[in-house]
Amino acid sequence: MPGFEVFGEEEKRQAMDVFDTGVLFRYEFAAQRRGIYKVREFEEAFAAYCGVRYAQAVTSGTAALKVAMAALGIGPGDEVITQGFTFVATWEAIFDIGALPVFTEIDDTLNMDPVDLEKKINERTRLIIPVHMMGSAARMQEIKAVADRHSIPVLEDTAQAPGASLNGSKLGSMGRCGTFSFDPVKTITTGEGGMIITDDEDLWRNMSEYHDHGHDHAEKPGGRGADGRRFIGFNYRMMELQGAIGLAQLAKLDDIVKRQKENKELMRQAVSRLPGVSFRNQLDEEGDSATFLAFSLPTAAQAREVNKVLNENGAGAVYFADNTWHFYPKWEHLLAGSSVSASGWPFKAPDGRRRVIYAPDILPQSAAVLGRTLVYQVPVKLGAGRREEIEKAMAAAAAV
Ligand SMILES: *Cc1c(COP(=O)(O)O)cnc(C)c1O
Repeated sequence: MPGFEVFGEEEKRQAMDVFDTGVLFRYEFAAQRRGIYKVREFEEAFAAYCGVRYAQAVTSGTAALKVAMAALGIGPGDEVITQGFTFVATWEAIFDIGALPVFTEIDDTLNMDPVDLEKKINERTRLIIPVHMMGSAARMQEIKAVADRHSIPVLEDTAQAPGASLNGSKLGSMGRCGTFSFDPVKTITTGEGGMIITDDEDLWRNMSEYHDHGHDHAEKPGGRGADGRRFIGFNYRMMELQGAIGLAQLAKLDDIVKRQKENKELMRQAVSRLPGVSFRNQLDEEGDSATFLAFSLPTAAQAREVNKVLNENGAGAVYFADNTWHFYPKWEHLLAGSSVSASGWPFKAPDGRRRVIYAPDILPQSAAVLGRTLVYQVPVKLGAGRREEIEKAMAAAAAV
């Protein structure tokens, strides 16, 4: 799936602009930088690409979630609903802002189940975070309808789906805000990095100030440090080198998606040979960024059996039901309430009482769906050798 496969001269040329000025910092140094503002340019290009007015670059996708929630005013006493199939970062960020994560089931889209979402809303719910897992859309229309009924904002965790869309709107652009990651394995990468997009100017202003110690970033006599502060912040600033690399990668995004779509179709044809196989419910086939191919067998036993043969033939798939980074029952540290804090925060309150308990078996529908599901990452470059290997492995698996 990832941008690292197409890393090359364009990224080097962009980064050289930064080395030529010697200005590594996104703000200030006006005299030395000769008009070069790579992070700002990356933000503008990313916002335009997504069809929104504002983008805020930060240091990671996890930071993007944190900064977005800070800007939305989320904190202790609040509950934030997300899905039980996501990367740990989604709920780490919820804890880090002081709120408590609540987990919904996924459905055949492998994303948030809007019916279960509505059941989990209560008077403490302040935010809903659907995650567009593996390059394709959650049921945004239904999720937004539920959210609107309860007047709760929606933040789209789009870390795994830049370039994907639903009915003509880019994923990440449909909620109050959307967050992205440019970590080493994402569709486009800046090594480490993240972005938040929004149409809401006040929300963007909160993000801009919070991510940089409260600086207001307005041009003023006296420069940086001559400004006052509206609230306390933190440091999640992106470097100029990351902005430069991001510009080169963003320019390649549509081509990455196009090539992944071609390769996904080839892989899908190979997988279609498995008796009884079905494919992930895609709400918008055209809008899929095609980073992953997810397919299901009729039973969990068959999925395990098929994957055993695929593994023996050098083409093992990811079995997310057993994955310790992406699926709720496998997050042993969450279930145990393990924290590095001596006080036990965030699982325990300052008075030592347990704030929350996560039981392992609360998401039976998700376990049933993922238990039947196998997943391949789709490469940008699919060599003939690898393709043949997958086809042979499928033939072997189809025979059992
Ligand atoms: C990768 C990822 C993140 C975190 O991004 P980082 O840049 O690695 O911090 C958040 N959410 C999801 C769904 C992800 O896949």
